[in-house]
Amino acid sequence: MEAQRMKETALGADLPGGAPKPGAKAQTVAMPGGKAFNLGRTAPGQKGPGRFMARVGAGPGMAFGEKFAVHAGTVGESQKGPEAAKAYGKLLAGLSPGPLGLYVHVPFCQNRCLYCGFVGQKPDNQLMEEYVSAVAKEIGAMGATAPGRPGPVRTVYFGGGTPTIVPPGLLAGLTGAIQKNFSLASDLEMTLEGRVSDLSPENVEGFLAAGFNRFSLGVQSFDTRIRRALGRHGDREKAMGQLSNLIRRRMAPVIIDLIYGLPGQDVSAFLADLETADRLGVDGLDTYQLNVFAGGELERAVREGRIPAPAGLPGQAEFYLRAAEFLDGLKWRRLSLSHYARDTRERNLYNPWAKSRKNCLAFGAGGGGFIDGHATYRLPDVAAYLGDARRGRFGPDFLTLPTGNEALESSIVGQMELGYLNLRKLFGAGGVSPGPIKALTDNWAQAGLIRLNGDYMELTDPGRFWGVNLTQALVVTAKENAG
Ligand code: SF4
Repeated sequence: MEAQRMKETALGADLPGGAPKPGAKAQTVAMPGGKAFNLGRTAPGQKGPGRFMARVGAGPGMAFGEKFAVHAGTVGESQKGPEAAKAYGKLLAGLSPGPLGLYVHVPFCQNRCLYCGFVGQKPDNQLMEEYVSAVAKEIGAMGATAPGRPGPVRTVYFGGGTPTIVPPGLLAGLTGAIQKNFSLASDLEMTLEGRVSDLSPENVEGFLAAGFNRFSLGVQSFDTRIRRALGRHGDREKAMGQLSNLIRRRMAPVIIDLIYGLPGQDVSAFLADLETADRLGVDGLDTYQLNVFAGGELERAVREGRIPAPAGLPGQAEFYLRAAEFLDGLKWRRLSLSHYARDTRERNLYNPWAKSRKNCLAFGAGGGGFIDGHATYRLPDVAAYLGDARRGRFGPDFLTLPTGNEALESSIVGQMELGYLNLRKLFGAGGVSPGPIKALTDNWAQAGLIRLNGDYMELTDPGRFWGVNLTQALVVTAKENAG
């Protein structure tokens, strides 16, 4: 996935929802094939900062009634189908030289993890070969459309699904196509996402030879009982052994995802996972809050009493706060609201790059990117993608037009991801009238979610837990009050 990260791609880059208001309703954009993307919650009839106020004195886990799921600020008018692909071609042809990110989507997965909302295509060798050759063609076509050798490319991310199930030799065809068609920065970060069960010594050798210099792996939990209940491959010992195959090479930073709030998991089990990660020598950690997808397998299993209910929001806040305290105690550095690094080896370039909507070209079925303020998205339909590739047709199925507020949004999202916001700049160069934002920051300070420190608003640990809500509130309120 790994599925917890689905929220960071495409139209919805890590996207927030609202304080729970009766009658609140999710906005959706209908996509062909009956898909719909949640664009955020609205409270009918409610306007102004009041709808984003926190409960004062309710405790860290009760400041809001729910976590916002989607970033409403990302939505502009969109173009579809051939119109979107044509507009994308024009944008690409006019692309100015400058730093770039690339995203390659690999929509294959053999697992069915209980908590995962991702419906992966079951791979076979022939399909993977065909897919990789189509993506290589797309990389070549897009590289040729942009003027010169586009770049320098600073960060490349192979996400999915589970890209590590693709044989290293095939992945090398894609990294080779990137090398051939783009200018690469000398400090390029090239990440391969996947699962530890694919880390045989031969595969590790092959992934490194293909040019990957960072690995992001979905461990989710080291606890054997929890892993089995969730449908993860292998037990604790196996997961640790496979991870060690990669770590002991010391050739590239190894980052793992760990989920908190899982069914049957208590805080001490999660802290034990963090302790194991530290002891194994991983370079970075993402701590993800469990998302339960409505109508998903996990929700059904809980409803039918096959597994215990996962932690609610107050419980999740407890996990988050205790984990932050534990990792601070081990002197890990905080690189974002949920991402920690042991030392300077882990840079975590891609996620902040994508979240702050810098230019990032996406390839493959299910890939989402940004170009000059336009969000792009290709549907995850592999058969349709392969059919188009045979006809030499590439490009997104959807392209969202800029709203004119991109710079403001990116600046807020980028700073908040790091745990602060410069209010003086927001009210000065940002041209946002202070009143409504100040009403929010006064309330959040009272609720213990932020500290006001000179020109800055800084998130406390409870504020970091609610970071998506605060970011969403700031983006929406700033846009509504921009000069
Ligand atoms: S490995 Fe599990 S979490 Fe990752 S994409 Fe597949 S089903 Fe989802």
